[in-house]
Amino acid sequence: MAKVRIYQLAKELGMENKELMELLDTMGVEYKSHASTLDEETAAAVKEIVAEQKGLEEKKKAEEARAALPKRPPVVTIMGHVDHGKTTLLDYLRHSRIAEREAGGITQHVGAFTVETPQGRIVFIDTPGHEAFTTIRERGARVADIAVIVIAADDGIMPQTKEAIAHAKAAGVPMIFAINKIDLPRADVDKVMQDLMKEGFVPEAYGGDAIVVPISAKTGENVDELLDMILLVAEMEDLRADPEAEPRGVILESKRDKQAGVLVTLLVHEGTFRVGDYLVAGDVWGKIRAMVDPDGKQVKEALPGTAVQVLGFRDLPEAGTTVEWVPDEVAAKHIAEERREERKAREQEEAERRKVKSMADLLRQMQEGQKAEINLILRADTQGSLEAIKGILAKEETEDVKINVLLEAV
Ligand code: GDP
Repeated sequence: MAKVRIYQLAKELGMENKELMELLDTMGVEYKSHASTLDEETAAAVKEIVAEQKGLEEKKKAEEARAALPKRPPVVTIMGHVDHGKTTLLDYLRHSRIAEREAGGITQHVGAFTVETPQGRIVFIDTPGHEAFTTIRERGARVADIAVIVIAADDGIMPQTKEAIAHAKAAGVPMIFAINKIDLPRADVDKVMQDLMKEGFVPEAYGGDAIVVPISAKTGENVDELLDMILLVAEMEDLRADPEAEPRGVILESKRDKQAGVLVTLLVHEGTFRVGDYLVAGDVWGKIRAMVDPDGKQVKEALPGTAVQVLGFRDLPEAGTTVEWVPDEVAAKHIAEERREERKAREQEEAERRKVKSMADLLRQMQEGQKAEINLILRADTQGSLEAIKGILAKEETEDVKINVLLEAV
């Protein structure tokens, strides 16, 4: 970079001469007029400062734009070990909601429902198990904003509790621990707290920052406190969405109904979906013929943070698939077709790769002196058989073959 005059640099940076000269003053650079020449170093320093200022301004603008967007309700998933009370808690929440509204109408099962509290709304996903959660995570989207991990106070942390924690952690979703069944005489809340500490979560009561709420899903004791904590975490996450943005969502459930055809539950993340809109979910397309909200009411539009049942998909999209809005039928068909072909190609490629990664290849790798790694997820019917398999695998590990157990569960 050659030497440059002040007015030339100002033009290059899109600034007024006066503005640049003021900046030079603050930098302690001496000059005679806007025709003075700056040396290379000074010019470079000026450029750096201006770029930094611009970056800050843009960041501030982006933050301001975000802060101006309306808040959206948090989407919560309930996870935990079998029999620890997930279903009971969901039922309690669902009923408390109906009671509050005095609606008494027939509620529609759409895979999610909303609880109204004086402090705000909360959307609960009631897809059983955490399959949907897992597939969604694998696709890189985050369906839930908060995970409630239910732990029975008479049982403590069990394998599926650990699995649930691992999933939430991997998805970067904040967790709230609900210690359930405190109405039971043999409930031992302290023991569960100790269990949590062993997993690296120090409860607030012990000076840490893990949020722990003892509840009874059966009697409803302290469930209000749990809702408060959910809203508090949601507040900290500062969840906002633009109802005017291009609509985007995720499939929570999809099934075929004899009468209605394909029924899909769609959770809206951004923008507003309207009856008549064209959609694509993976390689399936559709046109929204009708939408039903969790109260069984027909609605014309679905805002961010709401779950609706959608009628009009041509085929069954997979749970966990992202849903995109497209302008018309031509685009919808085109994109779905393109994806179907892409998927075919990918599947072929994968089949080829699987062939290559055969045992023979691993052996060859070993012979060539490379370290082979095998990543495993272990699932067994009992803790005992899991331990046994782990024991065998540990013996199989050699200098050349490393066995990584990513996750183990019963
Ligand atoms: P899930 O497998 O996690 O969905 O567990 P469920 O909700 O089906 O609960 C398993 C059993 O525990 C059922 O018999 C429930 O009635 C019982 N249960 C759930 N929550 C509570 C609770 O807070 N107190 C008591 N005493 N029993 C509970």
